[in-house]
Amino acid sequence: MQQTPTWATQLLLQVCKDEGRSKAPDLIWKYNRYGSCGYYSPWKGNKQAGLICIKTKEGDTQEKQVLLHEVSHWLTRPNKWKIVSKRRTWHNKRFYLKLDELLKRYNCWTIEYQNRELRYKSRGARFMSAPKPQQLSLF
Ligand SMILES: [Zn+2]
Repeated sequence: MQQTPTWATQLLLQVCKDEGRSKAPDLIWKYNRYGSCGYYSPWKGNKQAGLICIKTKEGDTQEKQVLLHEVSHWLTRPNKWKIVSKRRTWHNKRFYLKLDELLKRYNCWTIEYQNRELRYKSRGARFMSAPKPQQLSLF
């Protein structure tokens, strides 16, 4: 297992403090050849907050945003029964409003990242309040 960067641990603890949570998710950091991606699991890691896993490559410019994406999953996680019954529950309006808030609060909002969210889960990302690029058609 590789070392989690100090800034990532600090950012996670800062979110915890700002959101009034006593326990942060465990954080695993790995390096790959492809660039940043991650997942959040409420059932792995510690009992209270779960686990965030980030995979990134050296020099990736969006790892902070990807971390906040997973942090936002933690903060807005749906009830277990909903996760099972509805695939789209994870990337809902509540999730994107929280992500939008976090990106702005920690100065991580960029047009590149907004575009990435629009490509990735366009229906949900429309709830992010930043200006949307004209060339992308959402539906
Ligand atoms: Zn996600």
